[in-house]
Amino acid sequence: MTHGQSSSAETVAAIIDGKAVAAEITVKVAVETGRLIASGGRAPGLAVVLVGDDAASQVYVGAKGRKASELGFHSVQHTLPLDTSEAEVLAIVETLNKDPAIHGILVQLPLPRHIDTSKVIEAIDPAKDVDGFHPINVGRLAIGERDRALVSCTPAGCLLLVKRVLGEDLAGKDALVIGRSNIVGKPMAQLLLQESCTVTVAHSRSRNLPELARRADIIVAAVGRPEMVRGDWVKPGAVVIDVGMNRIAAPERGAGKTRLVGDVAYAEAAQSAAAITPVPGGVGPMTIAMLMANTLVAACRAAGRAEPKF
Ligand code: NAP
Repeated sequence: MTHGQSSSAETVAAIIDGKAVAAEITVKVAVETGRLIASGGRAPGLAVVLVGDDAASQVYVGAKGRKASELGFHSVQHTLPLDTSEAEVLAIVETLNKDPAIHGILVQLPLPRHIDTSKVIEAIDPAKDVDGFHPINVGRLAIGERDRALVSCTPAGCLLLVKRVLGEDLAGKDALVIGRSNIVGKPMAQLLLQESCTVTVAHSRSRNLPELARRADIIVAAVGRPEMVRGDWVKPGAVVIDVGMNRIAAPERGAGKTRLVGDVAYAEAAQSAAAITPVPGGVGPMTIAMLMANTLVAACRAAGRAEPKF
């Protein structure tokens, strides 16, 4: 963590450096991967399946494959045309399920409309579901069996960032998760509940959101609305984790230019928060690091080895 700069004498939150934490996790994954291989285990294998030509998905998939290769993983990518049938995707998943060199299968979302996303996710062997989206993994997390689950990467990364600030013991903290998506909001709430936080989950129908936020020691915003969380929603000393990634117009940078902002009005919130994640450079880098961690964990479990804790 670094402390924010301020031109005035105001108190400014510590900046939670997601890039640095992600880099530390990546080093740990590399070391543990080396240990697994040196002791006769297979290199962790990650297969990424991309259907269609969505530009953002191509960037994400490319980054995941590169990171896996850098870490000494066995890395494969299946790039399929937009008109690939659901049956073909299911057949590839089935082949990967049976492949002992593959420990993690990631089907990049969103899938084209003619493919049933739930069907594809449910076809993945839960032991290889490194995105943590399979109902078995979601269920294990919900019943408190995190040690047997693979957990969704973004919320798992958010929890690590919270612990960097508050330490391992979060018991009794008031946490507000804004957003209830299956990918971020709900698993985030489950993780915080398992840490014995008192968790409130807000969504588009919640009333008095600013008041709910003002009670929270921990705010995780995963909404997709630029700078929705204002500075006066943040209790002094709170920890603020901003998952949002919103591209907005930035005419101040020139005609047609854009910039990336989170769901939190960063400059305002930083006046009250004890610590806050920036966008970019906060939660974003953690997601890919946790994907690599999940793949390593899956490989250790497949080999019957003790798994590293992240
Ligand atoms: P999502 O599936 O669209 O869910 C958004 C959630 O926000 C929904 O639960 C929605 O409520 C709630 N919401 C919408 N408007 C609201 C309002 N005015 N007040 C309170 N809650 C409101 O989005 P997501 O996939 O969770 O992603 C959320 C954001 O995180 C996006 O900006 C996305 O790009 C970003 N993201 C970043 C990463 C990363 O690695 N950094 C990873 C995943 C997502 P309802 O359920 O009532 O509709």
